[in-house]
Amino acid sequence: RISIENFTKSFGDTTVIEDMSLEIGDGEMLALLGPSGCGKSTTLFAICGIHRMNAGRLLFGDADVTEVSSQKRNVGVVFQNYALYPHMNVYENIAFPLKVRKESRAEVDRKVQEIADLVHIGELLQRRPVQLSGGQQQRVALARALIRKPDILLLDEPLANLDAKLRLEMRSEIRRIQLATGITAVLVTHDQVEAMSMCDRIAIMDKGRIVQLSTPKDMYENPSSAFVAGFLGNPP
Ligand code: ATP
Ligand code: MG
Repeated sequence: RISIENFTKSFGDTTVIEDMSLEIGDGEMLALLGPSGCGKSTTLFAICGIHRMNAGRLLFGDADVTEVSSQKRNVGVVFQNYALYPHMNVYENIAFPLKVRKESRAEVDRKVQEIADLVHIGELLQRRPVQLSGGQQQRVALARALIRKPDILLLDEPLANLDAKLRLEMRSEIRRIQLATGITAVLVTHDQVEAMSMCDRIAIMDKGRIVQLSTPKDMYENPSSAFVAGFLGNPP
């Protein structure tokens, strides 16, 4: 369980997240859905520790990580530009987060092969990122994000760079991998179909606040406002 309590974030005089509280259950995949600029990425950056919170608390289980640096939080992150290391092959990219740990070569090999097989790139370990398709690169990014069995997987618009056909395929692939690993995950998106088809619950954000938090079905059937209804493409 990940708990965000009374989170506030400002840049200078501008408050972009105002008193947000949110709990994400173990093994749950939650969507942060909302228009551009509503604060989705800012929320993700606070969870992974890139941004400090101006106020509020962040808990991973019972552990208060509010003051824990990003390097010391066990978080897996995938952004829309996969940011693979171009000079490393797939194996080295996936193994990279393990470098700081003292594990035997055999143990690292076993972990990399296991996660690579799960995301269906087990045959591509010797390739370099330039020798991969967009979908394959994204699978590598997922494997790298998952190799340390993070407390939470954060996905910021992971499908935005893919063409329409690949986007459909990767929607179900990301969900399959999330369910297979049982990992707790947050998916940031401005695509309502993506949120509804991939996630257990959706938090709709508007101007730095969560305006509704519910299951896809309930939200679609019982939108709390015209904003939510409009955003889900189901105007009253
Ligand atoms: P998008 O869908 O376009 O990615 P978003 O919901 O992810 O949007 P954020 O990136 O979280 O939006 O930004 C929320 C608000 O905070 C925006 O108004 C943005 O301009 C502002 N903001 C974000 N980062 C900074 C920063 N480093 N300095 C100042 N303002 C920022
Ligand atoms: Mg963003």
